[in-house]
Amino acid sequence: MIAAPAPGATWQHRHVLDVDVFSAADIDLVMRTADEMKEILARPIPKVPALRGTSVTIIFWEASTRTRVSFEVAAKNLSADVVNIAAGTSSVVKGESLVDTIRTVEALGADMIVMRHSVSGAPYLAAEVFGGPVLNGGDGWHGHPTQALLDLYTMRARLGDVAGRKVVILGDILHSRVARSNIWTLTAMGADLWLCGPTTLLRGFDAWATRWADGRAAPGHGRFTVTSDIDAALRDAEVVMALRLQRERMDAGLLPSLREYSARFGLTRERLAAARPDALVMHPGPMNEGVEIAADVAVLDRSVILDQVANGVAVRMALLYLLSGGHPEGMSGG
Ligand code: ASP
Repeated sequence: MIAAPAPGATWQHRHVLDVDVFSAADIDLVMRTADEMKEILARPIPKVPALRGTSVTIIFWEASTRTRVSFEVAAKNLSADVVNIAAGTSSVVKGESLVDTIRTVEALGADMIVMRHSVSGAPYLAAEVFGGPVLNGGDGWHGHPTQALLDLYTMRARLGDVAGRKVVILGDILHSRVARSNIWTLTAMGADLWLCGPTTLLRGFDAWATRWADGRAAPGHGRFTVTSDIDAALRDAEVVMALRLQRERMDAGLLPSLREYSARFGLTRERLAAARPDALVMHPGPMNEGVEIAADVAVLDRSVILDQVANGVAVRMALLYLLSGGHPEGMSGG
């Protein structure tokens, strides 16, 4: 069965730069389009002609395995022509500016760009100069919209509606673009969101939570709590998402030691026992096993870490398709 689109649920966005500009109806449309893509992925040949003749250029200035490959598989499943540029081997290393690179890629025929950059905001600059859609595959500490959408998709697939459900994001919040994007989607969909980590890795978020608690800036109806009290955070949680400790972004002095961090904030079986017995365990990857998550927790039956990876393809197919002007119902015959 193909769900009928909700009235008024049409796609208005030209780019996917972050999820802060997505309404609950937009997010719902992405989720339903991703459902259609899941059906395609279950076919013996998971390929449809939706993006035939469209050239998608994937350019990553920062390391990645799963996000880059996931976008590539997604674009190929839609029959797009995919050009992959590893910025480390491109003219970027000769000092070419971001704007020059984007203009060059456009002159070479790119219709859509998927990019990752270590500078927050870089995709916004690219979107100003590029004539087609830009999809952000992660920018600095700022945003990772496709990750937040695949995380939400994974939660909904297991739990149904996330409204009122206690979701805990645990760990290095400060450096995490994954956490920042998840805040928007989860509160927009009404989750009871908790951010938990050492105070030095929560800097700025408590002010954000207070502002929302006052009702002045909350995007949805979700609750938003920021705490270093891991016992309070994990108590009766329905989802626990551990974040990678981002050592490459760490300023000196934020943590006494890795060992102390994992002793106080690592997700172990003992700690997880405080959550609901069927609480989902998530991680955006790549994992530092034994630091933010114990190896035996990552492989529990209720760990959905590999579901996140698999669902990422469907969600990215959905976004590429919607940006190309497609509609969920359009996939039914393909
Ligand atoms: N893969 C995610 C990202 O690029 C998470 C991480 O690297 O920790 O942001």
